[in-house]
Amino acid sequence: MTQLVNRRTCEPVNIRGTMKRITASIITIGDELLIGQVVDTNSAWMAQELNSAGVWLQHRVAVGDVREDILLALEEEGKRSDIVLITGGLGPTADDITKPVLCEYFGGKMVVHQPTLDHVIYLFEQVFKRPGALLERNRKQAEVPDVCKVLKNERGTAPGMLFEKDGKIFVSLPGVPHEMQGLMKDHVLPLIKTTFNAPHIGHRTLLTAGIGESVLAEMIQQWEEALPAFVKLAYLPNFGMVRLRLTASGEEALVETELDKQFAVLKELVKDFLVIDADLPMHEVVGKVLKESGKTMSTAESCTGGYIAHLITSVAGSSDYFRGSVVSYDNSIKITVLHVNEETLTTIGAVSEETVTEMCKGILALMKTDYAVAVSGIMGPGGGTAEKPVGTVWIAVGNKDKTEVKKLHFRFNRKRNIELTSVNALNLLRMFILNNS
Ligand code: ATP
Ligand code: MG
Repeated sequence: MTQLVNRRTCEPVNIRGTMKRITASIITIGDELLIGQVVDTNSAWMAQELNSAGVWLQHRVAVGDVREDILLALEEEGKRSDIVLITGGLGPTADDITKPVLCEYFGGKMVVHQPTLDHVIYLFEQVFKRPGALLERNRKQAEVPDVCKVLKNERGTAPGMLFEKDGKIFVSLPGVPHEMQGLMKDHVLPLIKTTFNAPHIGHRTLLTAGIGESVLAEMIQQWEEALPAFVKLAYLPNFGMVRLRLTASGEEALVETELDKQFAVLKELVKDFLVIDADLPMHEVVGKVLKESGKTMSTAESCTGGYIAHLITSVAGSSDYFRGSVVSYDNSIKITVLHVNEETLTTIGAVSEETVTEMCKGILALMKTDYAVAVSGIMGPGGGTAEKPVGTVWIAVGNKDKTEVKKLHFRFNRKRNIELTSVNALNLLRMFILNNS
């Protein structure tokens, strides 16, 4: 039987009626979230994890450290969803009131949880190596309502707490992102898997470059229109490239078979623009290409200030293929370290085809790598001229035999211009390697 799915929500639908979907709400707690001092990244991370676990997140709400507001949110979200995830406000300071409010809401009294106290003492004595006796406020970290199941926080002092009420599950987690993530992975996601019969959700992602979103949509229109209803296609453009993601939800074997089949067709349709058939950023793609071919690279960066090198080295194992970089921000460094002709700089200028070509040759010789990339541009907001406006960038990529250059133009703020320059430079390098190896 074909599994039908709501096209917008990807939620499975049974022809005899709607298959019970598992729903969730997220409550984030903290005054700092409301005033924008801290950006709520927890919700986005949790939403992605819930989605992968086949749970339909239907509501997100942020409240301050205010008793009445927290109680109201618990009441409303408990009515709305099967699972209510709560983060924040568990700390040892006076503004963190989540724990007593949870105790009040679920009815119980605060008791010391001995294994948590042992863990707090262990952290303070052995890991943080704090001198002196444990403060009362830190001891309080081990107090929990006696009506919850305690979830051990391996990464910090505030434990997670699991409550049940009227057949609904509530989980309170610390606000610190990496602690929350640890508890989700260690306890909450496995619990969801064993407690609920959530549908399987599968994804397939590929990256394209050199084609705009609209043209791409035209190109694959026929295939997209013929997709079974339970397979959903998303266009995710960024850095002038487009990522395509297929998502399907339902019975696992059916989902995976259909995704494999449709993904193979999609790859064939976009093959002239395909960068990689995986959900990887450009710097990882370049790393993979270099690693597989056993080659090395280096960078000479002016306007990106080392950002390309930073991206490359953010990947574990990049020392296999990345030798180094020269941030030749000042012209004197371009001349003395990279041996760019002084005359090139004074007559034609730093942001030019000639300069990046010489930078690229210079860094290849200096670092003795198989490939190199060089960039020079005007990232803004100042420094532009009529002839070379803000956003003008020259990129050179090459090996010992040849150099290829490209002029690009970006029109964003400084940060975004630097990111776009870096990702596009890496894409040019990737294509150069593929065409010249
Ligand atoms: P701890 O016991 O470590 O204090 P906690 O549960 O009390 O944890 P909070 O005091 O509310 O957490 O927040 C701790 C830190 O976690 C905050 O300073 C903030 O930077 C971060 N944080 C809190 N909520 C979020 C959120 N929703 N998204 C991202 N960061 C958050
Ligand atoms: Mg707080």
